[in-house]
Amino acid sequence: LIPPTRLRAMTLPTFVDLNLDPFWMPFTANRQFKQSPRLLVSAAGMYYRSIDGREILDGTAGLWCVNAGHCRPEIISAIAQQAATLDFAPTFQMGHPGPFQVADRLRRITPDPLNHVFFANSGSEAVDTALKIALAYHRLRGEGTRQRLIGRERGYHGVGFGGISVGGIAPNRKFFGSLLAGVDHLPHTHNLEHNAFSKGQPTWGAHLADELERLVALHDASTIAAVIVEPLAGSTGVLIPPQGYLERLRAICDRYGILLIFDEVITGFGRLGAPFASQYFGVTPDLITVAKGLTNAAVPMGAVIVRDEIYETFMQGPAGQIEFFHGYTYSGHPLACAAALATLEIYEKEALFERAASLAPYWQEAIHSLRGLPHVIDIRNLGLVAGIELAPREGQGGPRGYDALCRAFEAGLLIRVTGDIIALSPPLIVERSHIDQMVDILSRVLQELP
Ligand code: PLP
Repeated sequence: LIPPTRLRAMTLPTFVDLNLDPFWMPFTANRQFKQSPRLLVSAAGMYYRSIDGREILDGTAGLWCVNAGHCRPEIISAIAQQAATLDFAPTFQMGHPGPFQVADRLRRITPDPLNHVFFANSGSEAVDTALKIALAYHRLRGEGTRQRLIGRERGYHGVGFGGISVGGIAPNRKFFGSLLAGVDHLPHTHNLEHNAFSKGQPTWGAHLADELERLVALHDASTIAAVIVEPLAGSTGVLIPPQGYLERLRAICDRYGILLIFDEVITGFGRLGAPFASQYFGVTPDLITVAKGLTNAAVPMGAVIVRDEIYETFMQGPAGQIEFFHGYTYSGHPLACAAALATLEIYEKEALFERAASLAPYWQEAIHSLRGLPHVIDIRNLGLVAGIELAPREGQGGPRGYDALCRAFEAGLLIRVTGDIIALSPPLIVERSHIDQMVDILSRVLQELP
C-alpha cells in the first residue's frame, strides 16, 4: 500500500486502497518506486495531475508519444464512437475500413516512394516486423544469403528479440541468451571530446558511418540484409547524428544493396519539425518504423512503412498466395485506427510539425541557457528534443539522474532520464511560456542537486 504519509496528501479518495504490489512495473526499480510512488491520475494539454493534486508540466510528451498534447477531445470522441460501432474486426483474410484509411493518410506524409504500411501494436513489434520484411525481401529476390542485420551501439529498438539483438544497450541484452545470430553493431556517434555543447547537429563524426564499409569487407555484402538505426537516438540519451553521417550510411547501403531502416518511433510525427526525420535530414531509408505519435499514444499502434519496390517484390507470386506470413491479432485494430485518423487530422489542421520547426530555435537557446550549472557536462538539441548530460556522482552512473527526476517531479516537471542523461521532448503544442517554466524548474533542480 502507498505509505500513509502520502495517503494523507491525496485529494482523490477513490485511490486510497491502491495496492502497489501486484503490478510488476516495466523498466522500473519496483521496490524503490513503491516506497515513494509518483502517480499520475489525469492529464490535459501540456499538464498531468498527480495523485496528490499537483500540476506536472509534461516535459517528455509522456514517453515521447503524446505529440498533440493530452486528452484531445477529437481523439477521445473518435475512439468512443469507434468502440460503439465496431469494437474489433480481424484483418487476416478480412478487413474493415480503418487500416486502409490510416495507411492512405500516412502515405501522404511519408517520404516518397515509401507508400505501403504494415500495422503492428508497438514500436517493438514494428521493429521485429521490419527486420522480418528485410530478410524475406532478399530471399524473395533470390538473395537468401543476405541474413546479417546491423544495428548500432547504444541503439534502442524496443524489447522484442529482434529489437534487442540489433539494439546496443547492454542491460537490455545481456540477461537474455544468445539472441539473433549474425548481428553486428556500428559504433555510436556520441563524443563529448569533440561535440560537447553542440547546438543542432554536431560537425564531428560523419566518418563513423564508414565502419559499415569495414563490416562489408569482413562479411561480404552478399551476407548483409539491413542496417537499422534511429536517425536521432532517443532512449539511449539523445544522441544527435553528426552532419553528413546519415547521408554516408545511405550511400554505403546503396553501394552494396543493403536495406536501410530508420527506426522513427521517436522521431516520427514532427519531433524534429518535419513529418519524419527522413525528411528533416533529407535521407530516404527503405523502411521506416513508427509507433508512439501515430495515435498520440491514446491507443497502442505501431507500423512499418516500406518502399513501393519492397511491397511489389512481395506481390510477385500467385495472387491466391499469402505473401508475408506475419501479423498480429490487433494489426489495424479499429480503436487504434480511429485514434490515428483523428491524430493525423490534428497534426495537419494545427500544423504541429511546422510549429515544432518554428519553436526549435527558441527551444535551443532556452535549453543551452542551462550550460554552466552544476554537474552539466553536455547539452544537445535538435527540433523539439534535448539532452542534458550530468556528471556521474562518485563515478557511479545513474543516481544523480534519478535524483534529478525525483526533484523535478516534486517541483512540477516530468522529465525522462537514462542514467545521468536528462531527455526532454515536450508535446508539440508547447508554448514559449512552458519552455521557460521547464528551464526555470530544471535550473533550480540542478542548482540544488547534490
Ligand atoms: N524504437 C525506438 C526508437 C524507441 O524509442 C522505442 C521506444 O521508446 C521502441 C522502438 C519501442 O517501442 P515500444 O515501447 O512501443 O515497443
